Amino acid sequence: MSAINSPLEIYKLLNKSNCQKCMLPSCMAFSVAVVQGGKQLKDCPELDAQVIESLGVPENPRKTIEDEQQISLNKMIQKVAEVNFSSVAEKLGGIVNHNKLAINCLGKDFFIDNSGEMTSECHYNQWVHIPLLNYIIHGQGKEISGEWCPFNELKGAASWSRFFAHRCEEDLRQLADAHTDLFFELLNMFAAQEVAKTDADYSLVIYPLPKLPLVIHYWMAEDDFPSKMSIFFDRTAPDNLNIEYIYTITRGIIEMFRQLIVKHNMTGKLF
Ligand code: SF4
Repeated sequence: MSAINSPLEIYKLLNKSNCQKCMLPSCMAFSVAVVQGGKQLKDCPELDAQVIESLGVPENPRKTIEDEQQISLNKMIQKVAEVNFSSVAEKLGGIVNHNKLAINCLGKDFFIDNSGEMTSECHYNQWVHIPLLNYIIHGQGKEISGEWCPFNELKGAASWSRFFAHRCEEDLRQLADAHTDLFFELLNMFAAQEVAKTDADYSLVIYPLPKLPLVIHYWMAEDDFPSKMSIFFDRTAPDNLNIEYIYTITRGIIEMFRQLIVKHNMTGKLF
């Protein structure tokens, strides 16, 4: 049914109050979650049951996000078995060690073997595993150009840019606002480095993958001006990682930050 495959079609059904009773920050976030399988229409208590019924939506219409991720992972595991690690290591910024390809993500080494298994000193993180395999299989290993641009100006980003603005930049801004000191401590923990002076209060570069740097620009709230967050990428980013996985790995970093903030802040709460 087309109505359930498009976030905009779902959004039109909602009352747009952003009341958060569905445990998501907004009606648009809910619409995206329904399409991705993480929520069902009935999870919005404001939506009339008759509307849901009239759409004929089955009880469990889509696979969960975890199911979809597992399917993607299985496909990539098959493909990585065909990759000659020695011939791709240098262009990807990795090294081969004991038949495993070592790739540095956010200052920590992750190891991939030919069965696609990932090991590291960090906890397992599927948000990293899938983009990392994509980087190995499809990454062109283009040298970083030094030309920074916002996500929406990257090649192929058009259909992802609204989600990126909402689920990445906006969510990251809220974390930085609510836990400023801890937020920057975490960035330091992940080997963030200052970039040349910009007009932002903070401009830090991190490397989710060796040839996929991103710059976080953060302006703190001041007087009547709200805070602002922008994430910039090197112009070559889509040559080194499919745009979908640039979104996925950025989102994964934010999820990781959320978990670490809950674990390390005094209240044990996110907000
Ligand atoms: S509960 Fe419904 S109306 Fe409220 S934010 Fe979620 S989707 Fe929007």
